[in-house]
Amino acid sequence: MLTAFDAYKKIPGGVKDTLKWVYSRVPLRLRLGEEFFRQCRFLEESQWWSAQELENYQSEQLRLLVRHAYDHVPYYHDLFKSANLLPDDIGSVKDLVKIPVLTKDMIRNNLERLRARNFRDNEVVKLYTSGTTGKPLTLYYNKERDYLNFDPYIWRYFGWAGQKLGGRAAKLSAWTLPPGKVYSYNPVRNLLLLSAYALSESNVKEYVEGLKRYSVNYLVGYPSSIELMVKFLKAKGISRPVNLKGVFCHSECLHDWQRAGIEEFWGCKCFDWYGLEERVILGVECEQHKGLHLCSDYGITEFEDDQKSGFKRIIATSLTNYAMPLIRYDTGDVGYLLNERCSCKRGFPLFCLQGGREKSFAIGKDGAHIPVANIDIPNVTNHIVQFQFAQKKRGVMELRIIKKSEFQETDLEKIQKKLEEKFGGNMDIEIIFTEHIHQTKNGKTSIYIQEIKKENSYGIRN
Ligand SMILES: [Zn+2]
Repeated sequence: MLTAFDAYKKIPGGVKDTLKWVYSRVPLRLRLGEEFFRQCRFLEESQWWSAQELENYQSEQLRLLVRHAYDHVPYYHDLFKSANLLPDDIGSVKDLVKIPVLTKDMIRNNLERLRARNFRDNEVVKLYTSGTTGKPLTLYYNKERDYLNFDPYIWRYFGWAGQKLGGRAAKLSAWTLPPGKVYSYNPVRNLLLLSAYALSESNVKEYVEGLKRYSVNYLVGYPSSIELMVKFLKAKGISRPVNLKGVFCHSECLHDWQRAGIEEFWGCKCFDWYGLEERVILGVECEQHKGLHLCSDYGITEFEDDQKSGFKRIIATSLTNYAMPLIRYDTGDVGYLLNERCSCKRGFPLFCLQGGREKSFAIGKDGAHIPVANIDIPNVTNHIVQFQFAQKKRGVMELRIIKKSEFQETDLEKIQKKLEEKFGGNMDIEIIFTEHIHQTKNGKTSIYIQEIKKENSYGIRN
C-alpha cells in the first residue's frame, strides 16, 4: 500500500523543506500507514510471549527465510548444494548450526550473489557501513519493508521508558547542520537534532537554548557525547535545563561511570541500546535496568565458543531482510547470555556484551571533542578497502586510506568535501594513501587511533 510517507519521500528536497511543517500536521496513522501500526500491535504482544513461544516464532520465520534464500539467493543456493542441504533440513532454530557461519569477508567477496534475485534495483536500499573497524561493508535492505523492519522495534523500546510513538526527543549525533548552527528541529520526525561534532564548553549554552525552546523530555545519543555535554554544563555552572524522562544510549558501550554521571545530572534513567547497521540483532534495556534484553522476535542470536579468545562470539540471523538474507552472520562482537530472568517478565532473555563498542574522541583546534567513529566515509565512496583516522596533535589528523584500483581523483574530492562539512576549519586533515593500516595486538583494526598524549581536562576516559 502506498502510504503518505511514500508519497512524501518522492518530493524534491527544496520543496520538501517548506512542506515539512505542513506534512508534520498529517496524523501519524496516515503518515505511517496501517501496516506500521499492525506491526507495532504485534510487537506489543510478542514481547510477553514465553521463551517457547518465541522460539516457535523464530523457527517458523527461519523456515520461510531459508526457503526464500535457497530459491532466490545464489550464494545460499550454492552453499546448500555444496553442503548437501535442502531447505527442509532447517526445520527449527536448533538446525541452524548445519549452515556455515557468514563472515564479513564472505559478504565482501560475494556481495551480488548474496542479493536476492527477485529484488530489482529500485526495490533495495544500498547501505555502506564500517562498524568500528574501518573496513567498509555493503548491505542491501528491502526498500518497501525497511520502515517496518526496524522502526516499530525501536518505538517499542522507547515505550519501555514511557515515550509515546512519534513523541518528541533530542538526538545528539553526527548530524551535518548548517554552518554556525548546533541544533535544528525536524518537525516531521519531531526530533531536535543536536550536533555531536560541534559540542564544546564555549557553545554548550546554545544546546541548552535548543532543549528549552523545544521542551524536550527524552534524549538520544552516544553515551560519550552525552557524558561530555554533562561535563560542559557542569563546567559552566548550568543545572538541569529541562526535565528529562529518559536517556537512550546507543552505538557505544555505556560504562557504569558514564551512566552514573548522566543519571545524576539529568535525574532520570539511562536506557542502553545495542544494534548493528546489519540489523541482525537488537539488544535493549527495559525499565527494570537489569541488562540488555535480546529481542528474539527481531532475529536469532547464537553465542558460539571461540577457542582462541575463550569468549563467546555473537552469531546473528536477521529474520526480516529478504533483499539480502544474513544467516549466521558473525557480528565480530562478543558477549554471553545471563542466567537470570528480568523482573519485567518479558520473554526476551538478558545478555551482556564484552567491550567491542569502544569509541573515542578527536580533539579539534578549539578543544571540541569530536566522535570520529561516526564519520561515514563508506557512504562517500565505496572505492576504498579500509581507512583509519589518526590524531597527531590537537587539531591535526591523518586520514590513512587503502584504496581500491577504481579510486579516482573525484573520490578524493568527495572525501575532502565530507571532511570539510564535518570538521569545518576545526581540524587540519592530511590524507595519506597507504598499503597498511595500524592493527592492535589482537589483530583488530580501529577507525580511529590517538597518537598524542591526552589533552583532556574533562576526565573523559578515551
Ligand atoms: Zn526487563
